[in-house]
Amino acid sequence: MRKNLTCIICPLSCQIRLSCVDKDIKRIEGALCSKGRRYAEKELHCPTRSLTTTLEVIGGEQRLVSVKSDQELPRELLMPVMRQLAKLKAQAPIKIGQVLAADILDTGVNIVATRPVSKGDNR
Ligand code: SF4
Repeated sequence: MRKNLTCIICPLSCQIRLSCVDKDIKRIEGALCSKGRRYAEKELHCPTRSLTTTLEVIGGEQRLVSVKSDQELPRELLMPVMRQLAKLKAQAPIKIGQVLAADILDTGVNIVATRPVSKGDNR
């Protein structure tokens, strides 16, 4: 099996070509550095992504607060986590870095605020 990837580790965006038998990598071409090779191996075996989104706010000066995962999540869990976050509301005031959803879906990953929200009337 052949698989083509674009490395997302740095702006060079190397085009990486993998030759595999099942999930066993036989050859990696196109990566200019070892970080790219590690990225390709991880992408094949257990792809992960950081999650950034917003949560609804109750009693704040804004209706939404931007949030992110404090670690990368398995790629297949991104949509389940998004569905879970759509059910949650955060109570203002909110501080930067405040954990708004701890151990989301038992992943060990926290969802934290990336900006503050003061108390207010966001109706
Ligand atoms: S392989 Fe290395 S040089 Fe190429 S995009 Fe990835 S990190 Fe950058």
